[in-house]
Amino acid sequence: MPARFLPKDFYHALEEAVGSANFRHADNIPQSALGDWSTERGGTPCALVTPRDTAAVSAVLRLCHQHHVPVVPQGGLSGLAGGAVPSEGSVLLSLARMDQIEEIDTSSSLMVVEAGCILQRIQDAAQNAGYYFALDLGARGSCQIGGNISTNAGGNRVIRYGMTRDLVLGLEVVFADGTILPMMNRMPKNNAALDLKHLFIGSEGTLGVITRAVLKLHPGVCGANTALVALPEFDSVTRLISHAQFMLSGRLTAFELMWNDYYQAVIDGTGQKPPLATDYPLYALIDMQGADPDGERSAFEAMLETAFETSIISDATIAQSHREIETFWSLRDGVSEILSLRAPVISFDVSVPRSRIGDCVDEIRAALTQAFPKLPTVFFGHAGDSNIHLVAGPIDQFDPTGKNIERAVYEIIRTYGGSVSAEHGIGLHKKPWLSYSRSETELATLRLLKRSFDPKEILNPGKVLS
Ligand code: FAD
Repeated sequence: MPARFLPKDFYHALEEAVGSANFRHADNIPQSALGDWSTERGGTPCALVTPRDTAAVSAVLRLCHQHHVPVVPQGGLSGLAGGAVPSEGSVLLSLARMDQIEEIDTSSSLMVVEAGCILQRIQDAAQNAGYYFALDLGARGSCQIGGNISTNAGGNRVIRYGMTRDLVLGLEVVFADGTILPMMNRMPKNNAALDLKHLFIGSEGTLGVITRAVLKLHPGVCGANTALVALPEFDSVTRLISHAQFMLSGRLTAFELMWNDYYQAVIDGTGQKPPLATDYPLYALIDMQGADPDGERSAFEAMLETAFETSIISDATIAQSHREIETFWSLRDGVSEILSLRAPVISFDVSVPRSRIGDCVDEIRAALTQAFPKLPTVFFGHAGDSNIHLVAGPIDQFDPTGKNIERAVYEIIRTYGGSVSAEHGIGLHKKPWLSYSRSETELATLRLLKRSFDPKEILNPGKVLS
C-alpha cells in the first residue's frame, strides 16, 4: 500500500513509539535528510523518526512491518553510494539521537557505543582513555559508527588494522519485524557457532538496523613518522610496500598512492608548494604511527635509505614537524578541491589485486583516452589495500550521464577480477554494476538472505540488490 494512503492511526502510533519530539511528518522533514553525498535522489518519504533507544527502534519497525511501510535507516548521510536516500513512501529512521558512548573498558581494550555516535567522538574518547580507535576517514566529523559498520567502511588505516569489520567485536541489531537480536560479544575469540554479526556488517541497512556495537581498541598512538616519496614506475610501488612492511615489522599505517596527474592537479588546485618535484610518475605518502615516534624514527629513515639505495624510490622527504605531516596529508585530502574544481565529475572507488593495479590503471587510461579524447582524469588511492580511486571530469562535454564512462571502467575492472566497490558500498548508485563483481550464485545467495531476514522487503528496499 503506498504510504500516502496510510491511516492516521499509523502516524499516531509511530509518533507514540518515539515520542512527539522525535517524529516529523512528511511536510516537516528537513532537506538535509533527503540525500547523502552521492548524486542519487530517492523518493518522497512519509515521516522521519529519531528514536532514542533500541526499544523505540523495535517499536517503529514492528509497526512498519505490520503496515508494509518501507524503512530507510540513516546515519550521518556521508555515504557516497546513495544507500541512505529515501525510498518512495518510506519512514526515515535516523539513529542521530542514539549517540551515547556507554562504556570504555580499558582492561579488555573495548568500547561500547550506540549506533548514532559520530566517528570522531569515538576516536577522541579512545584517545582520552590512552587508546586508539583505528577507523579513520575524511567524513569522521559527520559519519556515524552505525553507518560505518553498515558500509564496512575502509579509510586510511586498513593496511595495518583492517576494515571496519575487523574492529567490531559485537553488535545489537533489530530485524525488520522489530525482533531485537543481541550479539554484544566482548571477546576476540568466540567460535560458538557462526558469528552472525558479520551478516550485518556491510549489508547497507538491508538486513537489519544496527543499534549498538562493541568496538575493539588498539594501544594508544602518540604520533607518526610520515614521508612523501617519488617512484619511477608501478613495479617499485609493490616492491616498496613489501620492503617497508618487512623492515618496519608490519607497522606501516598508511600507503597512499598518487599518480602524476593527481599530484599535479592537487598542487595546481590548492596552490601549495610541491614538497617533491612534479615530474615523477608516481608519489606515495607513507605513514607509520606509534606510541614513540621519535624512538621509531631511525628505523623509518633506514627503511627509506635502503629503498633509495636499491632504486625503489627516486626521491623522498620526511616530515619534520606535525605541521609538515598535515601538509603531506593535505595533498591526499586535496581530492575535495579537485572534485569541486572539475564538477561535474564521476568518482570511482574500485579494487584489483595489488600487483595488477599498475596494468589496470594503464588500461583504463588508454580506454578512456580512446573513447573520450581529452577527458581529464586523475588516479590515486589506498594502494596498500588494493584500492584505486579515479576522478573523471568535467564530464558534461563527453558523457553527461556518465554511464558510458562507468561501463568502460567497470568492464576493465571485471577482467582483472576486481571489485566495483572497494569501500563505499553499492547503495543505489552501483546496483547496475554489482554483477560485474559477484557471481550469479553469490547474487542468488544474497537474495536468499534478504528474503529470510526481511520477507516483506521493507528494509531499505531497492538498495544493493535488484
Ligand atoms: P549513511 O550515509 O547515513 O548511510 C550509509 C548506509 O548505511 C546506508 O545504506 C544506510 O541505510 C545504512 N545505515 C546507516 N546507519 C545504519 C544503521 N544504524 N543500521 C543499519 N543501516 C544503517 N568511506 C570509506 O569507506 N572510506 C573512506 O575513506 C571514505 N572517505 C570519505 C570522505 C568523505 C569526505 C565523504 C563525504 C565520505 C567518505 N566515505 C568513505 C563514505 C562514507 O563516509 C562512509 O560510507 C560512511 O561509513 C557512511 O557512514 P554514515 O553514518 O554517513 O552513513
